[in-house]
Amino acid sequence: MATSTIDQPLAGLEALRKAGVKGLDRVVAVRVNGELCDISFVPDGDAKLEPVYVDSDEGLEILRHSASHVMAMAVKELFPGVKVTIGPAIENGFYYDFDYERPFREDDLPRIEEKMHEIVKADYPFIRKEMSSREAVEFFEARSERYKVELIEDLGVERVSLYTEGSFTDLCRGPHVPSTGRIKAFHLTKVAGAYWRGDEKRPMLSRIYGVAFHDSKALKEYLRRLEEAKKRDHVRLGAQLGLFSTHEEIGAGMVVWHPKGALLRHVIEEFEIREHLRRGYEIVKGPQILKTELWKRSGHFENYRENMYFTEIDNQSYGIKPMNCLSHMLIYNSALRSYRDLPKRYFELGLVHRHERSGVLHGLLRVREFTQDDAHILCTPEQLDQEIKGVLDFVKDVMGIFGFEYDLEISTRPEKSIGSDDDWDRATKALIKAMEDNRLPYQINEGDGAFYGPKIDVKLKDALERKWQCATIQCDFTLPERFNLFYIDKDGQKHRPAMIHRVILGALERFVGILIEHYEGAFPTWLAPVQAIVLTVTDRNIPYGEKVLRSLQDAEIRVQADFRNEKLGLKVREAQLQKIPYMIIIGDRESQEEGVTPRLRSGQNLPFVQLKEFIDQIQEEIRQRR
Ligand SMILES: [Zn+2]
Ligand SMILES: [Zn+2]
Repeated sequence: MATSTIDQPLAGLEALRKAGVKGLDRVVAVRVNGELCDISFVPDGDAKLEPVYVDSDEGLEILRHSASHVMAMAVKELFPGVKVTIGPAIENGFYYDFDYERPFREDDLPRIEEKMHEIVKADYPFIRKEMSSREAVEFFEARSERYKVELIEDLGVERVSLYTEGSFTDLCRGPHVPSTGRIKAFHLTKVAGAYWRGDEKRPMLSRIYGVAFHDSKALKEYLRRLEEAKKRDHVRLGAQLGLFSTHEEIGAGMVVWHPKGALLRHVIEEFEIREHLRRGYEIVKGPQILKTELWKRSGHFENYRENMYFTEIDNQSYGIKPMNCLSHMLIYNSALRSYRDLPKRYFELGLVHRHERSGVLHGLLRVREFTQDDAHILCTPEQLDQEIKGVLDFVKDVMGIFGFEYDLEISTRPEKSIGSDDDWDRATKALIKAMEDNRLPYQINEGDGAFYGPKIDVKLKDALERKWQCATIQCDFTLPERFNLFYIDKDGQKHRPAMIHRVILGALERFVGILIEHYEGAFPTWLAPVQAIVLTVTDRNIPYGEKVLRSLQDAEIRVQADFRNEKLGLKVREAQLQKIPYMIIIGDRESQEEGVTPRLRSGQNLPFVQLKEFIDQIQEEIRQRR
């Protein structure tokens, strides 16, 4: 069991021991009648107690948050005059925001970490003390901790709790681990600026991030993954592979596609068009800007305006489209539709603009201008189930081709939304039914739907098991109502169609970013913007090299050549850095026998083959999307 220097009774822990709970040395807190408390908490007789283990989700959160107190104490000891603010647990770790005479720097971190180790070694207990808010304000005022004073005043409660470990006392609700010695494995990762309470009119604070785990093995594994993620960083690889760039002088969140990146996009777009056509979709295209009046009718102006850009033509206000729905509905409405015409599946590689805060923009993953593989399916209510199933099958096929596994979530009505309760209910039930009919496991994500309808979100998992939201399937009865869409049913009467909004890959920009990291830039042959490169050993091999180049081009293989009078080793290294699947090295034997000796980017040499045979092989690989 835990040996602790705590001099107050560990009542909660004692109670757990009496109840015969095992593994008490791994218990960091106790759940009393469902509420998380310190293990020193004194429960009354009939309270229901459960242990919270350090390696559980809640235990880790408590550990990480406790680590933020330890960091704050270390920073206070090292940097006199620093003011503390808040320090929550976050995914994998914690942060604490400080106000200091200068921002903290990366090179401050080793010192702070060293101090934290001292504090952990000293094994100070976390001691809870409750007092009136007035007393607490006096306490923090005496220490010039004005952020704490503001927090207490804003809380507006009678009593607050303070926690002390060693020399440091912080305002906190708790719970915490029993003592600092429990914090075994942590690492400070980075510094950043953050406004006090996220408000840009308030002071800029200095934030220090750290990670913490229940043991050093878990920490090491996390750091290894972090290193791996850095190697796969799509912004770095995007530059190395000549795929894309972003430019301050163009504007934040706008991507410039270089030849290889644009070609990669083209390959994906061509793939998408084929896959949609063979599933009965029709390709459509709407304009980039539409009158603001129309955005008012759809509810976008009311519910989505802050994400939109507006412009003016001839004194008339226009909105730049953030979604592609409206034109598709007008296409539907351009003719009288019968039940026999349904379903209608309109597909558009739709360029959209959405305003995202500059702080969240990142490479290709969060941008302000992007292309969605968007479609709207208009169908009878009876066809809805089948159509949702069709989209789910589509997602399954496509994710299989790219090698992604995924989870499914259903997001329900958000606060800001349009449409009747009845419509939301029908739409949500339709999505749930489709999932259950197909025996697909799913989670419910309360309040995260689109403003016009609930949705199924597809969270794919990449090679590092990170989750990404890409495909969504949204069910909507409201926009068909607002745009007066109808079809004539068997009874000769007008009926409302249901509408499915769906994307499969989502934003192509983002999907390409995910693909770069997933494959670490080494795209499978069918996707690689350059599939092969022809390299000559000496100048006398150039004539045959040119013949090979032309043959591959004629076979529609995306090929480059490097006939420079440079050492072969250098040419091979450069091609490897470009992660080109095949290097075709042309020496004397190849020239004389009219064949090739392909070399893979891994460095592996394949046997000598006739040129025709090599072309057949690579074409088969592309056909099979490998
Ligand atoms: Zn705390
Ligand atoms: Zn839509």
